[in-house]
Amino acid sequence: MSTWPVPSVPDPRTQAFPVLTAVQIGRLRSWGKLRKVKPGEVLFQPGDTDVPFFVVLSGNMEIVQPDITGERAIVMHGPGEFTGELTMISGQRCLVRARMTEAGELIEISADDFRSLVARDAELSEIFMRAFILRRLALITAGYGDAILMGSRHSANTLRLREFLSRNAYPYTYVDLDQDKTSQELLDRFAVELEDVPVVICHGSTVLRNPSPQQLADCLGFNVNIDTSQVRDVIIVGAGPSGLAAAVYAASEGLDALVIENNAPGGQAGSSSKIENYLGFPTGVSGQELAARAIAQAQKFGAKMMVGHGVVRLNCGRRPYQVVLDNDSAVAARAIIISTGAQYNKPRIENLKKFEGQGIYYGATYIESQLCENEDVIVVGGGNSAGQAAVFLSQTARKVYMLVRSQSLSETMSRYLIQRITENPAIELHYNTEIVGLEGDTRLEQVAWRNSATGETSTHAIRHVFIMTGASPGTAWLKGCLALDDKGFILTGRDLDGTNGTAPVPAWPLSRRPQMLETSLPGVFAVGDVRSGNVKRVASAVGEGAIAVHLVHRTLAEM
Ligand SMILES: Cc1cc2nc3c(=O)[nH]c(=O)nc-3n(C[C@H](O)[C@H](O)[C@H](O)COP(=O)(O)OP(=O)(O)OC[C@H]3O[C@@H](n4cnc5c(N)ncnc54)[C@H](O)[C@@H]3O)c2cc1C
Repeated sequence: MSTWPVPSVPDPRTQAFPVLTAVQIGRLRSWGKLRKVKPGEVLFQPGDTDVPFFVVLSGNMEIVQPDITGERAIVMHGPGEFTGELTMISGQRCLVRARMTEAGELIEISADDFRSLVARDAELSEIFMRAFILRRLALITAGYGDAILMGSRHSANTLRLREFLSRNAYPYTYVDLDQDKTSQELLDRFAVELEDVPVVICHGSTVLRNPSPQQLADCLGFNVNIDTSQVRDVIIVGAGPSGLAAAVYAASEGLDALVIENNAPGGQAGSSSKIENYLGFPTGVSGQELAARAIAQAQKFGAKMMVGHGVVRLNCGRRPYQVVLDNDSAVAARAIIISTGAQYNKPRIENLKKFEGQGIYYGATYIESQLCENEDVIVVGGGNSAGQAAVFLSQTARKVYMLVRSQSLSETMSRYLIQRITENPAIELHYNTEIVGLEGDTRLEQVAWRNSATGETSTHAIRHVFIMTGASPGTAWLKGCLALDDKGFILTGRDLDGTNGTAPVPAWPLSRRPQMLETSLPGVFAVGDVRSGNVKRVASAVGEGAIAVHLVHRTLAEM
């Protein structure tokens, strides 16, 4: 019946498009109302928000997506089948059009009631979540989205936006201007200059020239469902593993939780090709997959997720506290969990900035690995993330040169990883070695490195360098509000005994001492890699996120 684009998902007909039983449909009836529909009637359109959930009782409904040539067919729903994909849970704008091809009868359930249903009916929730995730996966794989990104592999912002969209699990069509000469002619005709690339067309109408991730998020309506005037129980700043865990536990325990993420959910873990030491995944899991599952889980329980906007200030002199965003709007909450992790350190090398995205990368995901297929690459760093990147890239690259500044791999590197690196013929380890030169015209063409033990410098025609040299917390925005240690990590719990950190902050106002994970401000917690004394592991970040929510309940009870 359907022209579903991706047969690669397991048994898509039954898993992505299950037919509900009479008993299941009976349960759904009490949540909605019956609606009679005529042929040609349109039930929802791309761009709509708060789209209801429909179950077909009789008749047929086609799901299509408008495109430049008219419409492309996605699927046909018959009796017992239901509409929806992940936007039903996230509250983001709808991606497709639904139209009846013959008269029939539907059950219509409002978006709000549908979210309550999913939180309460475990059996139906499982069926819907699985179907929605598989449908989204298929849309992504087929590039059936509401955005067209026209870019070039020589443009750093193209890479940034592609990562932003794929890490937000947003389906889009990519047009490679280096390959597609017709599109280039089209851009020429509309006087799109080189500096305007990449060009993004959202919803088939708005054209953005070289947009920032924030502009793209706003144009695609990523945050349309977020009410910033509401005082939340808890705001979670940062959606890495610790923030996502906090969101899952907070929402599942009935708290009104808002997560604010300045880029895309997943954090540092999202840039990991394979996490092999996280409990329950014996064959490993990619950071993006772990994040995608966590996002769906948090949203299923009702957590709200704002992406593409960062927090730039904390108004800590008032309760409820307020976080101020990069667009100057402010959101208030009774408790705050800071889970902003850490950002990559950038070594001081001349021309580093010039070649960012054009040969210099800070993450080794599938997208980057495709850019350097069958070429030589360099990985800089001797820690876990560098080791993982080297092993991952060795599967596609011709040769991986791993440059380590000290005379051994990091003591914190996992034993299994050390073995994989040293036994891998495609990885060549260079200790006591640092990059001293990056050369190229518009993109990186040559790299010079120096061995500090021998003093020898050599130059190599290598076009791809992955910088994996640790990370620092971006906590400048918290100065004057929270006690920080000398490296900028947030002090919590017992670590606050007898110290207020490096800069003046408000005195602790309560008779009780700060709880574990609580900062120098009551009701503000820090979890994961941003916390002083953290252990830089996904599992500990997740654990701290869960514990913090338990402590938030205590804070709310005190108010
Ligand atoms: C390549 C790589 C591989 C790794 N592999 C492993 C592994 O195999 N096993 C393991 O246990 N650990 C691994 N780690 C470490 C692990 O990923 C981190 O310990 C973990 O991600 C920390 O989680 P977090 O939530 O504290 O912070 P992060 O993951 O750093 O997430 C923080 C999030 O906050 C956001 N943010 C920052 N500032 C703001 C702001 N002002 N406003 C809004 N949002 C903000 C960021 O964009 C980010 O998404 C790896 C790390 C890397 C880089």
